Amino acid sequence: MARILITSGPTRQYLDPVRYISNASSGQMGRCLAQAALDAGHEVIVVSGPVLVEYPLGVTVIPVVSTEEMLEQATLAFATCDGVIGAAAPCDYRPVDVADHKIKKTGDTLILKLVETPDVVATLGAQKKAGQWSVGFALETEDARFRAITKLQKKNCDLVVLNGTSAINSASNQVEIIAPNGDIVESISGTKEKVATKILAVVQDRLIK
Ligand code: C5P
Repeated sequence: MARILITSGPTRQYLDPVRYISNASSGQMGRCLAQAALDAGHEVIVVSGPVLVEYPLGVTVIPVVSTEEMLEQATLAFATCDGVIGAAAPCDYRPVDVADHKIKKTGDTLILKLVETPDVVATLGAQKKAGQWSVGFALETEDARFRAITKLQKKNCDLVVLNGTSAINSASNQVEIIAPNGDIVESISGTKEKVATKILAVVQDRLIK
């Protein structure tokens, strides 16, 4: 049995008290991975951005809003875990300035200045202790395999799950699981439940002692 951290869902980066930038991630892949990990007898902690999906009973859910909060909570949780599966779609940018009050319309163009947020999976990957493992996702539209392997290397992952834009906010998915040497370990298409079960089987086979 392993203790597995799953990051899930989108994050939000507020520009004023009511407006934020985010993305269409639903948390469904994270929910299905959590269920598959529970079914395989593992202990599961999910650090999740704001989502409508309900995580399975028996999972510890730590809700967060921003990418910085996701990083903080995931870092704390990862210290007690054997591995992490990064299924979240954290916002890659945040506004430089966050207004205290709702920004008023002036008739002028509103120019937002954004800076990059930290990468959760890369930060955890860089902090891995002996025996700990990490699995990242890569959503690519071109040069998919090459970019996925580059991402795996940059983020120090042990496996990367490559998927396309059809995965976003959808009940099904088509993925390839790629190893650090570039081998396609598994190609899976079907419901996110099916994809999650197979991902867990590969993780179990290759990464869990
Ligand atoms: O670079 P890209 O966003 O495609 O990388 C996807 C992988 O990186 C996913 O595993 C995602 O959870 C993770 N990620 C992250 N923190 C970010 C951006 C991406 O953990 N700020």
